[in-house]
Amino acid sequence: MENKINELIKIDGLGRIDATHLIKAGINSPEDLKKGNVNDVFNKLRSLKENNSISYLSTKNSIQKWINEANTNNYLYSLAKKRYKNLMDRTLKKTESFTKEDFEAKLPIKVFKDFFGKDLNIRKCIYCNITETDIATLIDNGKIKTSRITTRGKLLEIDRTIEPKGHYQLGNIGLCCYWCNNAKTDEFNYDEFKEIGKSFEKVWNERLK
Ligand SMILES: [Zn+2]
Repeated sequence: MENKINELIKIDGLGRIDATHLIKAGINSPEDLKKGNVNDVFNKLRSLKENNSISYLSTKNSIQKWINEANTNNYLYSLAKKRYKNLMDRTLKKTESFTKEDFEAKLPIKVFKDFFGKDLNIRKCIYCNITETDIATLIDNGKIKTSRITTRGKLLEIDRTIEPKGHYQLGNIGLCCYWCNNAKTDEFNYDEFKEIGKSFEKVWNERLK
């Protein structure tokens, strides 16, 4: 149930309660929604409401929006959207003179989505090649030692590759693990750290054996 809910709420505007209602109505995934038609879905939900099995009835308008969103495959970019917002918020906080529009001009959301990829993509660190799946395996096997793992490390971060203090924009961003990001600091440049990353990769491969 929880997995199904988590898949459905990747669709923009579809909340947890909506997701449980849809699952009760037999719509278990974004794929099911894609195939659905608005009147069918509405009628299924209405009969659940009439039986008091669900708390409220969603409007046809909302249902249509979910179906449209499922069909654009936009929902597959929910992680990218979250990371983009996070980068923007951090940038605006640091530089008061910088506006949302300035940020979007340097790095349009569409460009970022293409760079970051869909939720199903396998992402890896540009320096040491570790993937988020590898990191999860290492954590599960007790082979990650840092106490910071509760807040950083599970997900790859966005490194400003060429100009560490420059803008987040294509040509200056790369996916990077916490360990590489933390070691690179503003000391090593991209080419230097590409070399250092090879040593990190050897260590990860040993630990993954
Ligand atoms: Zn790395």
